[in-house]
Amino acid sequence: MICEVRGDAKSEEPMTNEPSATTGVANPTGFRALVARKDGKGQVVALETLTDADLPEADVTVDVEYSSFNYKDGMALKGLGRILRQYPIIPGIDFAGVVAQSANSRFRPGDKVVLTGWGVGEGWSGGFAERARVKADWLVKLPAGLDTKQAMAVGTAGLTAMLCVMALERHGVRPSGDVLVTGAAGGVGSVAVRLLSRLGYRVTALTGRASEREFLERLGAAAIMERAEYQPPGKPLQGERWQGAVDTVGGTILANLIAAMAYGGAVAACGLAGGTDLPTTVFPFILRNVALLGVDSVQCPAALRGEAWRRIAQELRADDFALVTEEVGLDALPARADAILAGQVRGRTVVNVRQG
Ligand code: NDP
Repeated sequence: MICEVRGDAKSEEPMTNEPSATTGVANPTGFRALVARKDGKGQVVALETLTDADLPEADVTVDVEYSSFNYKDGMALKGLGRILRQYPIIPGIDFAGVVAQSANSRFRPGDKVVLTGWGVGEGWSGGFAERARVKADWLVKLPAGLDTKQAMAVGTAGLTAMLCVMALERHGVRPSGDVLVTGAAGGVGSVAVRLLSRLGYRVTALTGRASEREFLERLGAAAIMERAEYQPPGKPLQGERWQGAVDTVGGTILANLIAAMAYGGAVAACGLAGGTDLPTTVFPFILRNVALLGVDSVQCPAALRGEAWRRIAQELRADDFALVTEEVGLDALPARADAILAGQVRGRTVVNVRQG
């Protein structure tokens, strides 16, 4: 598998066999996109210049301003986990921008929109480009108070963090108890720490990176816990420490934190950065009434998605976005893929698609 930026090349193979009809005019000047193709040697990722005719057929065309770089994007650019389900494709599982053309009455040119999930950037061309075309049903209008860059500072990872917080709230978890966030210095984790601390929870941040202590404290973590404490297999029932938890890593860490939940507590589990297995027992569930709440942001219903974006706009303040974010251009993404899969990226990466 080759993963490289070869430079600015004109596309020779069309991105789609379906020409654009409904949404009108092709972009005559072209736009830049990071494109994944498969050749004899495997997957190749390169910056190319495309036109609207290269985009899939759908009812809304968006001038993308920002995308973001998520764990799944790292897997996609490295050709791992069969994330990319067609070639050629523009990866990028989320974006925020301005509607350029719309054949749907709910969206007008000039509307600011955000997209996460729905298989975009996996089986449908996505956000690592200056232009995207998607189904209206997949788009959310940006809530008041949120601009496109802030929306991507949050992105798929931050939306998932908010969905985790809302799942805990629905279960009845309240700020009176201690909560744990795993993978705390990563994308989902850092936004979860910030949101929970803004909501008044006493947050413990579990991290494998001692160097991120100061970052986590700035996000509002009241205590830092070393990953090593929960990495080895532990007892099936441990001291009751946590009323709630957001888990982004799975594996023995999730098993240990389930074993240490207080009576009636709940864990929102959304990730697998540490493994896909879950070596636990039924004891925490049947003796302590512990709940394990699965959280998915990809197929999340539109109403819940809209509510989560409203909550994000309501709970986070202007300086929160800069705190969790680094900005890069399209050309920096192949190297980012290695870093995010190695657990070395801090917080969230905003992608300025007009840069690099
Ligand atoms: P990041 O890479 O930004 O963060 C993951 C963090 O997990 C790392 O920063 C690190 O945090 C920790 N980590 C990395 N490797 C290990 C390991 N081997 N054992 C334990 N901890 C580890 O990724 P994201 O935050 O973007 O995504 C986190 C997870 O959530 C991923 O598995 C992703 O696929 C999943 N996800 C799921 C979604 C859903 O809809 N369910 C949506 C978005 C993401 P630290 O250094 O602090 O320990």
